[in-house]
Amino acid sequence: MPDGVVHVVGAGLAGLAAALSLARRRRPVVVHEAAGQAGGRCRSYFDPALGAAIDNGNHLVLSGNHAALSFVEAVGARDKLVGPRHAEFDFADLATGKRWRISINDGRLPWWIFDAGRRVPGTKPADYAALLRLFFARPGARVGDLVRLEGPLYERFLQPLLVAALNTDPAAASAALARAVFRETVLKGGKACRPLVAANGLSSAFVDPCLETLAKLGATVRFGQRLRAVEANATRIARLDFGERAVTLGPSDAVVLAVPAPVATALVPGLTAPTAFRAIVNGHFAVAPPAGRPPVLGVIGGTIEWLFSFEGRLSTTTSNADRLCDMPREDLAAAIWQDVSRLTGLQGPMPAWQIVRERRATFAGLPEEDARRPRPQTQWDNLFLAGDWTATGLPATIEGAIRSGNRAAELVLRTHSRLPPAP
Ligand SMILES: Cc1cc2nc3c(=O)[nH]c(=O)nc-3n(C[C@H](O)[C@H](O)[C@H](O)COP(=O)(O)OP(=O)(O)OC[C@H]3O[C@@H](n4cnc5c(N)ncnc54)[C@H](O)[C@@H]3O)c2cc1C
Repeated sequence: MPDGVVHVVGAGLAGLAAALSLARRRRPVVVHEAAGQAGGRCRSYFDPALGAAIDNGNHLVLSGNHAALSFVEAVGARDKLVGPRHAEFDFADLATGKRWRISINDGRLPWWIFDAGRRVPGTKPADYAALLRLFFARPGARVGDLVRLEGPLYERFLQPLLVAALNTDPAAASAALARAVFRETVLKGGKACRPLVAANGLSSAFVDPCLETLAKLGATVRFGQRLRAVEANATRIARLDFGERAVTLGPSDAVVLAVPAPVATALVPGLTAPTAFRAIVNGHFAVAPPAGRPPVLGVIGGTIEWLFSFEGRLSTTTSNADRLCDMPREDLAAAIWQDVSRLTGLQGPMPAWQIVRERRATFAGLPEEDARRPRPQTQWDNLFLAGDWTATGLPATIEGAIRSGNRAAELVLRTHSRLPPAP
């Protein structure tokens, strides 16, 4: 093994982003992944019940997620993320039957707020000024301390957006994380808010092309390699124990630990990280969406919050969904199908279906959990942390995961020069 190797542990998007950044800078990289495939919480797989490939969760990226877009660009997969030319969000209210479209204009000047045909129905331009309170929030503040949790602006725009982005009840959610979402998207105008989806699956956009690029760059990716223990001396990580195999680190080798928070806290002594998580529930139905369906529909007043139209399949997402986790699967599928049927007009027996409950989908976007997120640097010179749960300033998202991986790679490259040369 040549010296100066960076061992990236975990091949979710944080680990893949770190590996990609390092390999592009000609650092030798070995990725060690516990599972038999890469992608972690952002991947596709074949589902026998549906007879089709699905994603472990429907994922939405906004065009302002610049790290995510640079990542897919770097692996030659930018065309795999598709969406409307402008920032348009279709919504339906299941309780009232009302439908509307929010159209955020491209530029930074928010004239969409002054156009009744573009803004949230039932709102006035002055209502939006309340959002500015998020920008003057004290540390630790919750969205509910600052924003009125009722009325059309909240129910038809803020709540769906914030539940999706923070995977947490907005009343208790961190104002700082909500602010970060607004700062990077809505405040930058429609150009930063176009909703993008991986129409052919998350793996085709984020995972497979990255693995191909890593292979071309000479990086090694090993599957079925679960890190079981980390041996450290006072200043450095000395050994990685994978059970049947161990890796002894050379003097200029480094480690990027890109595993989920509970795994990292079990491996790294004294590490503080988020401990509260929230579920996301996805429903999938093997049925062709009726013609003219929007690719993504926001839904209020029902069990589901988003309805995605894919080729030959309708899929739903409900975030902050712990309440749905103990419901019998058949009952949950029936409740979700009822929403889908009302929204699409599809009648008849429920088609082949699948329910995917990711119980620990993301850490809860609460101020107290945000405060527990560690910096990527550790007390050991050659150990860096990455993952959506590290202190990125963003909620747990693809964008945050990729930025965390990029940042860990930067730190490895920066500290490399002060490490002792290989003997
Ligand atoms: C259902 C769902 C819907 C989501 N929707 C969205 C969305 O719409 N938009 C958005 O931006 N984000 C969304 N997210 C969040 C996004 O998927 C995550 O933020 C991102 O994928 C996290 O990447 P990560 O690399 O930090 O972690 P992970 O993906 O968890 O990667 C960690 C990797 O480490 C591996 N590992 C674990 N233990 C070990 C070990 N001991 N040794 C070696 N390897 C190990 C795991 O197998 C995994 O591959 C969603 C998440 C879920 C679950």
